[in-house]
Amino acid sequence: MGALPGARCPICRKSAGPRPDNPAFPFCSPQCKLVDLGHWLEGSYRVPGPPVSSTGDAEGLEPRGRTDWPDGNTQEEDE
Ligand SMILES: [Zn+2]
Repeated sequence: MGALPGARCPICRKSAGPRPDNPAFPFCSPQCKLVDLGHWLEGSYRVPGPPVSSTGDAEGLEPRGRTDWPDGNTQEEDE
């Protein structure tokens, strides 16, 4: 494993030190790391795209499973 040469801070574009020397890698400094974190918290880094919805499958499965269970089965378990 070797540090990538020429790594750049995605925030300020300064050269970021290699990982062993730089706990904030891939940022140049803890400050830039915090800036990036702030962007995430503000939602400005959100990945654009349609929301993944699997409601078609989920909604189809649950009611079907419920109606498939016979009432007698649950009563047997109770006794
Ligand atoms: Zn930076």
